[in-house]
Amino acid sequence: MAREIKKATASGKKTVPYLSVVLPVYNEEESIELQYRAVNDSVKKIKKTYEIIFVNDGSSDKSPELLDKIAVKDKNVKVVHFRRNFGQTAAMAAGIDHSKGEVVVFMDSDLQNEAGDIENLLKKIEEGYDVVSGWRKNRQDKLISRKIPSRIANWLISRVTKVPLHDLGCSLKAYRGEVLRQVHLYGEMHRFIPVHASWIGASITEIPVGHHARQFGKSKYGIKRTFKVMLDLITVKFMGSYFTKPIYVFGGTGIVTLILAFLSGLAVILMKLLMKVDMTGNPLFMLTIVLLILAAIFIQLGIIAEIMIRVYHESQSIPPYRVKKTVNIK
Ligand code: UDP
Ligand code: MG
Repeated sequence: MAREIKKATASGKKTVPYLSVVLPVYNEEESIELQYRAVNDSVKKIKKTYEIIFVNDGSSDKSPELLDKIAVKDKNVKVVHFRRNFGQTAAMAAGIDHSKGEVVVFMDSDLQNEAGDIENLLKKIEEGYDVVSGWRKNRQDKLISRKIPSRIANWLISRVTKVPLHDLGCSLKAYRGEVLRQVHLYGEMHRFIPVHASWIGASITEIPVGHHARQFGKSKYGIKRTFKVMLDLITVKFMGSYFTKPIYVFGGTGIVTLILAFLSGLAVILMKLLMKVDMTGNPLFMLTIVLLILAAIFIQLGIIAEIMIRVYHESQSIPPYRVKKTVNIK
């Protein structure tokens, strides 16, 4: 590392590129070379410093060798190889961690995104936006299994998260590096990066981008993904609205349960007094007990979640706020 810096200063070259293009790769051997050429042509036209980072997500075809071959010829190409398949989100996270660009652009490596759109995304970044989301207005995928579920999911996500984007599933997106590097990625959460970014105060916009049908290989996903996305949405909503105050969710449920227990207990007593119904033989009596136990458990869960949140924030020194910039503070 130290040697690298020395070398860079000696030759007077700037080491931080303006643009990092990150492409996750999982078994895309037929597309790789063409994808590289498309990105390369497009970034060359932009006339800014750049790096192209391919993340090989444990491919079992010829993709790894093809990528290495490209990287030997072109020093602007960097490759990260995973030991096994960790999934697209992990590949994108590795891309972020290994990128140095002021702006990071993601795109797929299966030729479905249009590399020529990178320039348009960057124009929006230069206008001052932190996140520019691609919107496949004319998407070339199957209608029933892909386009319709995606429409519904996007509609729901934008309603629930209040981030008004049409196409979270589109990989082609640009981020200001300083914003992106503050977002932590888990599980299969890459499509929620704009949502996370908006929580930390990023300004977001979208532009229509081109889209092509898959030419080679096949999609790594099916209809199952829609359900996963819906489950992720629940997590995202929880994290966004209640992450620093989980007792509101669990404690709230506990209080509702407690009220139900009270009503059910009251019914047992009134039935005894007015209708002479035996208390121990009344099923509502059992219900009251169950609800009371549930209420106690919910409230205790809330307390445990509160403790965990505190451990999480304090052990990793994650602040409950994000600073845009400071003046005269070093
Ligand atoms: N991908 C990956 N790891 C995976 C699955 C997919 O890196 O486990 C990559 C894949 O090579 C492609 C991108 O993620 O570059 C999007 O995948 P795909 O084209 O299969 O998704 P679709 O376009 O059908 O939504
Ligand atoms: Mg694809």
